Amino acid sequence: MLAAMPPPAPSPLAPGENSPRTQGDACPGSLRLHRADDGALARVRVPGGVVTAEQADALGELAGLLGEGDIHLTSRGNAQLRGLADGCGGELALRLGESGLLPSPRHERVRNVVASPLSGLDGRGHGGVGPWLAELDALLCASDRAVSLSGRFLFALDDGRGDVDALGADVTLLKQGDGAALLRVGAAADAVRVPGAQAAHAALVAAEAFLDSAPDAGTWRVSDLPDGPDALLTEVVRRLGAAEIDATRSGAPARPREAAAPELGTVTGGASGAAALSVGVPLGRITAAQWRLLAGTARREGDRTLRLTPWRGVVVPGVAPERAAALLGALGAAGLITGPESPWHGVGACIGRPGCAKSLSDVRALAGAAVGPVGELPVYWSGCARRCGHPHGDRVDVVATPEGHEVSVVRGGARTAPVTVAEQTLPATVAAARG
Ligand code: SF4
Repeated sequence: MLAAMPPPAPSPLAPGENSPRTQGDACPGSLRLHRADDGALARVRVPGGVVTAEQADALGELAGLLGEGDIHLTSRGNAQLRGLADGCGGELALRLGESGLLPSPRHERVRNVVASPLSGLDGRGHGGVGPWLAELDALLCASDRAVSLSGRFLFALDDGRGDVDALGADVTLLKQGDGAALLRVGAAADAVRVPGAQAAHAALVAAEAFLDSAPDAGTWRVSDLPDGPDALLTEVVRRLGAAEIDATRSGAPARPREAAAPELGTVTGGASGAAALSVGVPLGRITAAQWRLLAGTARREGDRTLRLTPWRGVVVPGVAPERAAALLGALGAAGLITGPESPWHGVGACIGRPGCAKSLSDVRALAGAAVGPVGELPVYWSGCARRCGHPHGDRVDVVATPEGHEVSVVRGGARTAPVTVAEQTLPATVAAARG
């Protein structure tokens, strides 16, 4: 499908260029490239992490043609292309538009939607959230008001299991057993119950109410609102009534403290009787060969879609159960994480050196060198104190500092005193801390 109009020219950001909040956020996108130390970076929004096999082919081709070849997954289930050559933005935008990955250039940075990756596939939760996802994306792309959302504003569509509810989105739809939705705004104490058929519309109403409650362009997320989320919820309830959405205010269930990643391996139990393959990606970086294998598996053996997960994994739905073990074995042989016994399981890192100018260390190389027996706790390596993309919940935290690498343990929201460790002893210290 060809884009109806040529997308606007990309606007690379200079290294270190950060807009003050009053001028809007500088979150990268497909059209607003970020200039990193290893070339330009494009973040392609993938609502719900769902790409077709054909879109996966297009992304892989673009990564090879214009960038370094690999696909990087983000903590919101989006795809990043790195190492892009200067001046490639026009071709990138055109090809993304042709593949359907840029349905509305004006909205490209606001299509931030995460969804339960295994919804409808394993019998847990209250069924698929695919219809909500498709409708919310279409409504967002049709909303002039939504163009003003920041690139950080997040929607979560949770099938009731609580996995993406725990990610603390700005607007969350939590599916109920009868098909209705509980709508949360930020960390408001209450929620609003709405019919399932009106849930996506209600989510857009909530986002637009947020925009009208925000005092300035520097208010990016519900947690930034000076009057807090409860005042926003009151306004949302009023607007839902005005939009003739059947809304009932109710108490909100406690948000899960930790966001549970999808089970890895062969997944069964969905209503269709098909299996799904769920794999993790070492440090969130999928090589060109792994990406081709995943896209080819989805096309030949699955339902022709892939789901990229906020836990830097990929799900291939729609596989014949009797073929699942062999297909999973092939994905494992290609270096993907197929079960909790993989030494890469629970290991994460930011991009570090040489990709990030702020990094004090090549943390990905160090993380690879420290990979060993699986520990009880996950570990996350950061090249500086910003800790980009770090997971929530209990973990071992390794941060590069001018003095070396600080190791601490986060448990139950509390952090142990950091210990500075020399590079040679990092593997042993991290292994001991993971337990
Ligand atoms: S945590 Fe620091 S080093 Fe890592 S990507 Fe973020 S800014 Fe760069």
